[in-house]
Amino acid sequence: MRFGQDSQLNLVLSKHLNPQLSPIEIQYFSMHSPLTTILPDLSLIPPPFMYVAIGIFGAIIGSFLNVVIHRLPREASIVFPNSRCPSCEAAISYYDNVPVLSYLLLRGRCRSCKAPISARYPAVEVLAALLWVAVAMHDGLSFALPFDLVFVTALVALVFIDAEHMILPNAITYPGIAFALIARLAVPYLMGTPHFDDLPMLLDGVLAGMPLWAASLIGAVIGALVGGGSLWLMGWAWEKLRGVEAMGLGDVKMMFMVGAYLGWRLTILNIFLGVLSGSLIGVGLMLRQGKRDMQMLLPFGVFLGIGAIAALLIGTHIVEWYAGQFR
Ligand SMILES: [Zn+2]
Repeated sequence: MRFGQDSQLNLVLSKHLNPQLSPIEIQYFSMHSPLTTILPDLSLIPPPFMYVAIGIFGAIIGSFLNVVIHRLPREASIVFPNSRCPSCEAAISYYDNVPVLSYLLLRGRCRSCKAPISARYPAVEVLAALLWVAVAMHDGLSFALPFDLVFVTALVALVFIDAEHMILPNAITYPGIAFALIARLAVPYLMGTPHFDDLPMLLDGVLAGMPLWAASLIGAVIGALVGGGSLWLMGWAWEKLRGVEAMGLGDVKMMFMVGAYLGWRLTILNIFLGVLSGSLIGVGLMLRQGKRDMQMLLPFGVFLGIGAIAALLIGTHIVEWYAGQFR
């Protein structure tokens, strides 16, 4: 018997309808019973209001991300001093710091010196708001939601820093790897196994009979090795073929984090999406700009990061559809 999301739901239902479960079902259910079944029902909050609230939170986080994106690569403190105009150094007051709205009201210019403010600021705020709503629609109000929000928010920061500076700072990737492992330990107990794409399969197959936390961590290590390992191999092969360093270790560390969190199936999809979109845009740029090297132009972390967000939100559907073609 396969335990997917539906079979788990069926178990919850059948426990109420039919108290005579088989011993293996009772054992499975007692091992994997999600905490959500015993907690108050948050779905009573009207969804439109919930999504608006989460979108506003996302925009505020986006505003903070702008500070991270600007200061982290310059090794400036993220907390002090308060935000200043990069042109005239004038302190930005709280009423000029409202996500998106202030940019529109000031028509994209600094209040004191009228220097143009980069469109990146409102763009990151709008993007963060939209992604927070998308993640909330994907997870519902569940224990997985805060974990997925942290994961996606870290990826947005990495994407924008890589786009501007061609680096993926250790200050994000190292805590990101630790975060992925903590999520791997906590979320299966809070949400049941199916939240991680690879976990039901592992528990059903090679890791059958193993404690949930151990199986989840092993899944994380496999995912990290698939993600970081394949990036490292690509860089190594490119270096051997072309004699130039192709990829920084930043990409490898980022894919350790992503692979540990997403599991091996979604990580393969993520790398496929990243390589595909990166090469399409890279070839396009090479054709337009003459014969410069693709790797000179492309911050690969941008494409991997976007691929990781796509894999989190819709990856399981894509992978299941693909696997269905061969059944
Ligand atoms: Zn100014």
